[in-house]
Amino acid sequence: MGYLDGFLVTVRQIGRKQRVTTQYPQEKAPIPERRHGRHVLNRYEDGMEKCIGCELCAGVCPAHCIYVRGADNPTDDPVSPGERYGFIYEINYLRCIHCDLCVEACPTEAITETKQFEFSFTSRQDAIYTKAELVVDDDGQPQHLPWEDWRPGEDLHTSAWMRATAPSGVAALEGRVGWSGELGYGVRAPEGDQATRDAMASQHTGVGQDGGVDHGHDDHGAHGAPGSH
Ligand code: SF4
Ligand code: SF4
Repeated sequence: MGYLDGFLVTVRQIGRKQRVTTQYPQEKAPIPERRHGRHVLNRYEDGMEKCIGCELCAGVCPAHCIYVRGADNPTDDPVSPGERYGFIYEINYLRCIHCDLCVEACPTEAITETKQFEFSFTSRQDAIYTKAELVVDDDGQPQHLPWEDWRPGEDLHTSAWMRATAPSGVAALEGRVGWSGELGYGVRAPEGDQATRDAMASQHTGVGQDGGVDHGHDDHGAHGAPGSH
């Protein structure tokens, strides 16, 4: 950049509205739609838990902050539709970096992240969320713990990130929801502007609009039960 070009950049900035420091927490910035926040453990529409205790999330977690123990479902009162369920489930938020790899690894869409990030605890015990705290309530909503500062919308669309990426940049897969129904929501609608996103993705990657591979994400059974994936 030449000497004059540098001055032009400076001149162009004169009069532009400059970014200022936000007076947090009185003033809060808009919530990005793909923010990764506090996790939830989801349930199917009939109330059964989606977690099958497979430990894939714990295995993939780079921060080693998930602890899962699976157990056989009681035949007379099963917790999940599969053979196994998550008997113990803990996330240590003193370690979590909110990378969402656990969400990507989960075969049953049991673990997702809300947009809630304002939770500060005063004890190690509070920082380690248990299954009882992570599993959604009977309306399919995240539980609001005493030290969490929830804002409207942070508990909605916890699965948006995965649904949005399901077409993998292939327009032919647009609208094919790769997500089983959830308690309180049913089968959620796909994002509305996937065609625009896919077009942009194909420009960047060179992947054709209709030449992609069907990943089979729309093939969930009523429960998306283990073995049906
Ligand atoms: S978001 Fe990342 S760091 Fe946090 S529990 Fe999941 S895999 Fe681990
Ligand atoms: S949350 Fe998903 S990946 Fe983790 S143990 Fe449960 S079913 Fe497996």
